[in-house]
Amino acid sequence: MSNKFVGAHTSASGGVYNAITNAEAIGAQAFALFTKNQRQWKAKDLDTETIDTFKRLLEESGIAPKHVLPHDSYLINLGHPEEEKRQKSFDAFVDEVERCMQLGLDRLNFHPGSHLKQIGEEACLDRIAESMNRTLDVTSGVTLVLENTAGQGSNLGWKFEHLAHIIDKVEDKSRVGVCIDTCHMFTAGYDIRTKEAYDVSMAEFENIVGFKYLRGMHLNDSKPDLGSHVDRHDSIGKGKIGLEAFRYIMNDPRMDDIPLILETIDETIWAEEIKLLYSLEER
Ligand SMILES: [Zn+2]
Ligand SMILES: [Zn+2]
Repeated sequence: MSNKFVGAHTSASGGVYNAITNAEAIGAQAFALFTKNQRQWKAKDLDTETIDTFKRLLEESGIAPKHVLPHDSYLINLGHPEEEKRQKSFDAFVDEVERCMQLGLDRLNFHPGSHLKQIGEEACLDRIAESMNRTLDVTSGVTLVLENTAGQGSNLGWKFEHLAHIIDKVEDKSRVGVCIDTCHMFTAGYDIRTKEAYDVSMAEFENIVGFKYLRGMHLNDSKPDLGSHVDRHDSIGKGKIGLEAFRYIMNDPRMDDIPLILETIDETIWAEEIKLLYSLEER
């Protein structure tokens, strides 16, 4: 039995439970989903029937709740420089956490936030941590999982130091985590293409953030180059990162027992990509 739980961000169109069926259809052992339309602020509350169906299908699938990595809406910016807009993001974020709680899921993946060139980096990071603390105060049972970014535009979270800064200011450390996206990591400037580079970049993550916070990964190859700060995913082994980095990950025990999620561009080959990743294991 493998200790790796590989899957993809599957479609929840037509009902959140469809993400489970779509995951099973590609042989996934983990999956990610949006629990509401990711491009809209408001969503209908989850009804009892939807929640019950989700829980029943998840149990039948054999996929553990901890191997499900819900992703929040792209509109949310917990570090928004404007108070009113930050409040709107906060309200939407709390709703996202509540949806996870209702579905029996224990983590929520989100992009930290953007300063929009209106405030400094540190002020923005402080606002993100404050929004997270307020969220943790009014919710329970769900870990807030910060995703590293490519650093496109004014998005923060591309430097490991950004993530560490936020974590340092979050009061309840038991409910904060990190998701490493390999494409974002690479285009942010952390090389993982050779074993030596991989070891150096991962040691940096360990020293600055710590693997004890790792709650998931996004496995994506990258169209743009190292350090380009451009966020464009590619299929595994077909981009600028290449296949070897994924071999290191699949054989790294620090990535055991967490959701490893494909967000690669061609979903028609996700089943093959999952098989390919498992074939890299050397045990
Ligand atoms: Zn990602
Ligand atoms: Zn991305």
